[in-house]
Amino acid sequence: MKLRIAIQKSGRLHEDSIKLLKECGIDINNGVNKLKTEATNFPLEVFFLRDDDIPQYVEDGVADLGIVGENVVLEKGYPLETVEKLGFGKCRLAMAVPKSMEYATVQDLHGKRIATSYPVIVNDFLKKAGIQAEIHEISGSVEIAPGIGLAEAICDLVSSGSTLFMNGLKEVETVLRSEAVLVANSKLTAEQKMLLAKLVFRIQAVKKAKN
Ligand code: ATP
Ligand code: ZN
Repeated sequence: MKLRIAIQKSGRLHEDSIKLLKECGIDINNGVNKLKTEATNFPLEVFFLRDDDIPQYVEDGVADLGIVGENVVLEKGYPLETVEKLGFGKCRLAMAVPKSMEYATVQDLHGKRIATSYPVIVNDFLKKAGIQAEIHEISGSVEIAPGIGLAEAICDLVSSGSTLFMNGLKEVETVLRSEAVLVANSKLTAEQKMLLAKLVFRIQAVKKAKN
């Protein structure tokens, strides 16, 4: 009996995910280019995946658990259980417009084209605000969209905001605040739930020690 956890293969969440497991006293050897590895002192198998794929793997039950940004969990929309917020990978999904554009309220987005990699979350935001706008889904370099005439506004992940500034944009709305979370498949067995409780207990102890 083992738990299988999916974490990001490389990128912003990779190091902190590994670090968290290590701080929980779980020994894993993360060899470069490995697809998976096994903990030596805890019944845990670790899969290394693209962050966007993690919710689906957990939903499908290929992995039991995953560490991924709330932004990705929400965008994918699977009914996963968020077990614990992890306190790293903090960022926000922000609406931004060219510095030169006059912007007073969210109404100013009406009729605009908005470029984003998060169409589901943005659509939800616009709907709640009662705004009709055109969403253009693009997968990367969203911040260049206004400069090349693709859109009048963008909605993208930021932490400091310096990338926006460098691209002549200003942040005008916070659409979502996000951090890395531990998610679980909703149909774990009783035995898996006991192992999960053990892991969560350790995570909470690690978090407490940092406060
Ligand atoms: P992958 O190759 O796994 O698909 P990626 O390029 O989609 O990687 P990263 O840029 O590594 O993803 O970001 C992973 C997660 O890190 C984001 O989904 C978000 O939750 C978080 N994050 C924290 N700060 C930032 C930031 N400034 N910009 C983007 N993502 C951030
Ligand atoms: Zn990704």
